[in-house]
Amino acid sequence: MYIKELVLDDFKSFGRKTRIPFYEDFTTISGPNGSGKSNIIDSILFALGLARTSGIRAGKLTDLIFDPGDSDDDSFAGEREATVEVILDNEDDTLTREQVVSAAGSEDIGDTDEIRVRRRVKQTEPDNYYSYYYLNDRSVNLSDIQDLLAQAGVTPEGYNVVMQGDVTEIITMSPYARRGIIDEIAGVAEFDAKKEDAFEE
Ligand code: ATP
Ligand code: MG
Repeated sequence: MYIKELVLDDFKSFGRKTRIPFYEDFTTISGPNGSGKSNIIDSILFALGLARTSGIRAGKLTDLIFDPGDSDDDSFAGEREATVEVILDNEDDTLTREQVVSAAGSEDIGDTDEIRVRRRVKQTEPDNYYSYYYLNDRSVNLSDIQDLLAQAGVTPEGYNVVMQGDVTEIITMSPYARRGIIDEIAGVAEFDAKKEDAFEE
């Protein structure tokens, strides 16, 4: 399974609908400073529910909505919303149809060769906003998305996304702590934790 395409609409600096294709093995994104490279990574973390707001460089969720920056004051100019859709290629059946059906709570999810996770954040009033998740166009909860992705080894604690600071952290950490990361990636840590729980009982 891999990310095939991203569709951003009014997310951060992407003030119009933008489709970004990804290759199966390796894709690099290049561009001048401030052109939106990191915003693309933020969009993936946002849509897949993999990071807290601070992890995607926003004070609050509504900061993620495109701000044209044409108004001097901060007055509320009406409803606004941002949408990000992550399109996963699942042709290799990393996730089975049953798993996707179970997460979506519906059989009516189309072909699961393609898994589409979409998140919207909608500001309705100055101090009120809504956040919605969809799986192949079916409305779901964050936990449905997280449980599904965990079955493919994608978790908020995981190292599926390695952020800028993480690299330095890994280099400067003790060998023992670094071993912990390898255990986490290899899936051993989960069993260590279960073993510890069992001993405690
Ligand atoms: P660098 O090479 O410096 O890391 P980058 O390509 O990663 O740069 P980003 O951090 O992705 O750049 O983009 C930063 C830009 O996004 C800034 O110009 C910032 O103003 C803009 N931006 C962030 N949030 C919004 C928003 N809600 N509306 C409009 N623009 C935004
Ligand atoms: Mg950057």
